[in-house]
Amino acid sequence: MAVEHFDVLIIGAGLSGIDAAHHLQKLCPNKSYTIIEQREHIGGTWDLFRYPGIRSDSDMLTMGYSFRPWTHPKAISPGDDIRDYIAATARDAGIDRHIRFGHQIKRAAWSSQDAAWTVDAVRKLPDGRDELVTLTCNFLFSCAGYYRYSAGYTPEFPNIGRFQGRVVHPQAWPEDLDYAGKSVVVIGSGATAVTLVPAIAKTAGHVTMLQRSPTYIVSAPEQDKIANWLRGVMPAMWAYRLSRWKNVAFMIYIYQLARRRPKYVKTGLLKLVREALGPDYDVATHFTPSYNPWTQRLCLVPDGDLFQAIKSGRASVVTDHIETFTEKSIQLKSGKELEADIVITATGLVLQAFGGAELLVDGRSVDLGATLAYKGVMVSGVPNMASVFGYINASWTLKADLICTYVCRLLNFMDRKGVRQVTPMKRDETPVAPFVQNFSPGYIERALAGWPKQGSKAPWRVYQNYIRDSISLKWSPVSNDALEFSNPPEASTKPASRELAEAAK
Ligand SMILES: Cc1cc2nc3c(=O)[nH]c(=O)nc-3n(C[C@H](O)[C@H](O)[C@H](O)COP(=O)(O)OP(=O)(O)OC[C@H]3O[C@@H](n4cnc5c(N)ncnc54)[C@H](O)[C@@H]3O)c2cc1C
Repeated sequence: MAVEHFDVLIIGAGLSGIDAAHHLQKLCPNKSYTIIEQREHIGGTWDLFRYPGIRSDSDMLTMGYSFRPWTHPKAISPGDDIRDYIAATARDAGIDRHIRFGHQIKRAAWSSQDAAWTVDAVRKLPDGRDELVTLTCNFLFSCAGYYRYSAGYTPEFPNIGRFQGRVVHPQAWPEDLDYAGKSVVVIGSGATAVTLVPAIAKTAGHVTMLQRSPTYIVSAPEQDKIANWLRGVMPAMWAYRLSRWKNVAFMIYIYQLARRRPKYVKTGLLKLVREALGPDYDVATHFTPSYNPWTQRLCLVPDGDLFQAIKSGRASVVTDHIETFTEKSIQLKSGKELEADIVITATGLVLQAFGGAELLVDGRSVDLGATLAYKGVMVSGVPNMASVFGYINASWTLKADLICTYVCRLLNFMDRKGVRQVTPMKRDETPVAPFVQNFSPGYIERALAGWPKQGSKAPWRVYQNYIRDSISLKWSPVSNDALEFSNPPEASTKPASRELAEAAK
């Protein structure tokens, strides 16, 4: 059978994959594309995670697409509404017709001879057998997220096998889990734990959040009053743009303040927690992290729901270490014991780049850990490939939108210049930092060795700054000395980078 060929192959039909398709349709209307999605639905993260209370922890005015207003009154939004928003975006633009569901990409091999990728995917047949599906494309655009879908991360807890209650990871929430009236222990202190605890506390007997160390937690209004008001007095798109810039500016201000005056921000954040929980609560033990604000992602709780659950007595926080599991409880290093019917391990994700696909360039396997990230979008030595990795200090989509625009600019530039291959070349630039810097939750640290690194200067730095990235990805010339443009041998033998750099000036 003839192998199907596309100009662009997008991996993943999540928030970023639909964003990529939208940009391609708008900015590169002559490009053919397909989206390969391993699951049976659109939405990625927002379809996979089904635990009670699942919601965004950044505001949807910045997490929505730049081109489609978020019109729900809740800015911190339930997961279902985010999934519907992504699916509606795909449906309205006919993007859904380009998606091949149930195909997991296993391998992508670049050939410089053909200036093309050969992509191998596995499709599950109705009878359970695997079918190999091979496609080719000129440009590979990975929108596969950043973590493994098959299972989350669970540490090796001593004797967890002895525990007779149910142990559940939020990434695989069982539909039949009945926690009404039960004693539930949630292990973890990140965004998932602080979302789960108040949601479960509504009907559970009692919920204990068991954490090794505290996280910064800040209450924010679930509804953005200014955004909702603006929507009433002007067209939805104008109101959305204004609200988006308001929130971007506020976020940049807070982040910069936290980095420049960490003590001041720390004192302010802890004061808010004290006000929410009352003067008798032990904020020092349970809500005062040892690190400075924003060296790990700050957790947002809508309208202080976590604090309310604690104040009502339906939930509590224990800061301790696990000694061992018994049949009915968790014994802690302090000697305390937590009885539980259900234990929820909100202990994180397993990071995974490019959807776990093996990458080869001209027959050689790519060692991602030895590469440098170009503008946080491409990888040194790997031609015609880009990927989306959003912000860690702001909404993912802000960067996803910029990356999608950049990829379209790059493709159009190559068409204009008549070149088929672009490769970031690190030359004498050396790695000086991991892909994600100044941000160290365990699940990120565990995986960063195998990810592309950052160099010492632009374009080899990965910024967490929307303004800087807008300049770099939207407004700077596409061509520069770090990109080598070329054609396959039969079309042209000489790299065109210098010539193109001249042309771009
Ligand atoms: C619980 C949770 C809450 C979050 N909350 C926020 C938030 O509030 N704000 C924020 O900005 N970010 C948040 N994030 C980060 C979040 O992942 C991004 O917001 C966004 O959903 C990422 O979209 P994506 O499309 O890039 O990746 P994903 O949503 O992960 O989608 C990737 C898609 O690629 C598919 N795929 C992966 N590998 C393959 C393969 N080999 N073959 C075929 N298909 C593949 C997947 O099935 C999936 O559909 C959260 C993450 C989690 C886990």
